[in-house]
Amino acid sequence: MSFTSLGLSSALVQAASRLGMTTPTPIQAAAIPAALQGCDLLGAAQTGSGKTAAFALPLLQQLQQQQGAAAGPRPVRALVLVPTRELAAQVGEVLRSLAQQLPAPPKVAVVFGGVSINPQMMALRGGADVVVATPGRLLDLEQHNALRLSAVAHLVLDEADRLLDLGFADELQRVLALLPAQRQNLFFSATFPPAVQALADGLLRDPVRVQV
Ligand code: AMP
Repeated sequence: MSFTSLGLSSALVQAASRLGMTTPTPIQAAAIPAALQGCDLLGAAQTGSGKTAAFALPLLQQLQQQQGAAAGPRPVRALVLVPTRELAAQVGEVLRSLAQQLPAPPKVAVVFGGVSINPQMMALRGGADVVVATPGRLLDLEQHNALRLSAVAHLVLDEADRLLDLGFADELQRVLALLPAQRQNLFFSATFPPAVQALADGLLRDPVRVQV
């Protein structure tokens, strides 16, 4: 089993390899082909399973394939929602490390609460292809017109159970209301208590289920 056989471009296979990823983990093997096809995904996965690359690699490939479609400032095309600033930084780092190896690197922005909003507003000038965000700060930035979410074609919820545990349910619903209805949804959670299952049921359309 190789990343190439999962349908990834040689540029992304090489980018993964430079980060020490040469053989797909089980969640990557199951998730990447489905995500590349544009399917919604329900992933039951813990940290350490390789779930970050399981969504980062197909996201980046899809963005590369669509590049050049839109003129003018870059609208946000992929949004990754995470519960904490630590996870935002980690996921942003993986996306950036992979992206920077690509011929026309997608721009990745990372935003989270608990720090001054101004540097994040500056970073978003000119737009970003991928935004990794905690929900509250994302809403603040949207209200300041620092970004537009009306062209998001891919949504990732990472650690959805923790998003709900940390009280982000309302913010999450407000973010979802700003997104186009027509989009791909990738949903990852370690656990599936009823509230998380209900969130997944409301969000996903005929998801491919991946459990590791
Ligand atoms: P994650 O579950 O996404 O937090 O990833 C956990 C760790 O596994 C990270 O340090 C990754 O760099 C590493 N990792 C992810 N995928 C692979 C892979 N296919 N081969 C080797 N290491 C990997």
